[in-house]
Amino acid sequence: MADAPAVARTSAAVRAALDGPLRAGRSIGLVPTMGALHEGHLSLVRAARAGTDVVVVSIFVNPLQFGPGEDLDAYPRTFDADLAALTGEGVDLVFAPEATAYTPADARTTVHVVGLTDGLEAASRPTHFDGVTTIVTKLFSTVRPHRAYFGEKDFQQQAVIRRMARDLDLGVEVITRPVVRDPDGLALSSRNTYLSPDERRDALALSAALAAAQRGWAGDADATRADLLGTLGSAPGVRLDYAEVIDPETLEPLEGVHDGPAQAVVAAHVGDTRLIDTAPLQPASTDRA
Ligand code: AMP
Repeated sequence: MADAPAVARTSAAVRAALDGPLRAGRSIGLVPTMGALHEGHLSLVRAARAGTDVVVVSIFVNPLQFGPGEDLDAYPRTFDADLAALTGEGVDLVFAPEATAYTPADARTTVHVVGLTDGLEAASRPTHFDGVTTIVTKLFSTVRPHRAYFGEKDFQQQAVIRRMARDLDLGVEVITRPVVRDPDGLALSSRNTYLSPDERRDALALSAALAAAQRGWAGDADATRADLLGTLGSAPGVRLDYAEVIDPETLEPLEGVHDGPAQAVVAAHVGDTRLIDTAPLQPASTDRA
């Protein structure tokens, strides 16, 4: 049996573990997660394994990115199962800091990305991205990765982090990997565990609508947006938050006919669970390294 990865609980322990590899010129890959790991997370770990010498996975339910009334307390915490899932995946270090130590109450610094954090997810989660960018900056500072791996599933998040890394010259290459799905199409998410069997069935409307949008894509953003709104606006058990067709870089809604890259993004409540999903509107899903 392969050994479980080493676990560091403090920034000092991470730095101590990585000083040697960094001095030896080895490249570090970071996969930031909130745990409750599934195959989507593991796809990022495997990309990091293939792309860098030393793989670090952070497991941290970041309190800063949850708004009031969101599911911070209920969020699944499955640390032992997460370590088991990472065993045999070639992970060199798991960083799992204590929340009170890593996000101290007297911290006074926030990293804010302007513009890209205004719409879509931010419309209903106004403080979310500041929480993400602040903690990802801190993780980059602790781990000092050469590359960091994110899921296309959180489409706005990866665009915001990509922009932040560029604007602040963080020296981290942001790699985005495609959405991993269950065989019936549902995008894997740690929050899927909240869904009842009926809700899970209703949730399939999201991936089905996106697949239809991909198949029907002829460059007309207005038509595809209207299709998504029509389908998801009337799907049983689905309370649509937004359905948009956007420019993948600026995240601005596209209008009219468009021959460049486009991305469909949707968010909806199914029961009490808020789900997001996305699909590139071009022939095949490609990495945006
Ligand atoms: P989370 O633990 O939800 O914060 O997610 C950690 C990372 O895994 C983020 O970069 C997510 O975008 C990514 N991720 C989550 N679900 C999936 C999925 N179904 N496919 C690929 N990546 C995912």
